[in-house]
Amino acid sequence: MYDPIKLSELTERIVVRGAQRKYHRFRFTRFYGGSATADAVGCNLRCIFCWSGRAVRNPSATGKFYSPEIVADMLIDMAERNGCRIIRISGAEPTIGKAHLLSLLDVVDVYDKIFILETNGILIGADRRYAEELSGYKRLHVRVSIKGCSEDEFRYLTGAKYGFSLQLKSLEYLSDNNVSFHPSVVSTRGENLRIVEKLKELGIRPSDIEWERLKLYPPVKERLKRMGRLDEMGDIWER
Ligand code: SF4
Repeated sequence: MYDPIKLSELTERIVVRGAQRKYHRFRFTRFYGGSATADAVGCNLRCIFCWSGRAVRNPSATGKFYSPEIVADMLIDMAERNGCRIIRISGAEPTIGKAHLLSLLDVVDVYDKIFILETNGILIGADRRYAEELSGYKRLHVRVSIKGCSEDEFRYLTGAKYGFSLQLKSLEYLSDNNVSFHPSVVSTRGENLRIVEKLKELGIRPSDIEWERLKLYPPVKERLKRMGRLDEMGDIWER
């Protein structure tokens, strides 16, 4: 088992260089009704169902460094060409490299676009100031992907020593700072009611919870088969 905060620090040394950060792909996607997307490199978790592959497991050999200005230009240009209002960062863990992320938000905030930050919330939950700093951006919406419905399921899905409570903390801090957000939950054990109750305590309505569906890409299927866990994943796969 690994420490996700230590892994964040190690990963940051690989994927951040000054104001630049590593990305491995820029693409237009159908998500959110159409979004210009930058896929980041480097993550602080190792989810057993992750489809990001080398971007997570081999960040040194994946992607290229980009300045916040170049990332912003590419996303805005792609959004304009495709007639969409949504730009987003996804792929691995975009909160690694806070200075880069905040600079990118500074640049895109002047455009009439909605910026979706997809994160596992670990670093936001570990640092109250992170949510405060995000609160200055009115076009920002944060989607926090919660891995499981309990600390035990979180450990099973990610292999990390801890982190579930940090994920919940991130929701609390985002809410305290009036940052627009919603949780999406990966649930593999049918413990949905358990997390619904926890999230209610944080003021999150059940109707605001997204139940995450994942694609069973062939490498993911192979990994889960090797681990003997394919049949234990419940109803999380997209049909
Ligand atoms: S948090 Fe996301 S990118 Fe990171 S390992 Fe899990 S699924 Fe992959």
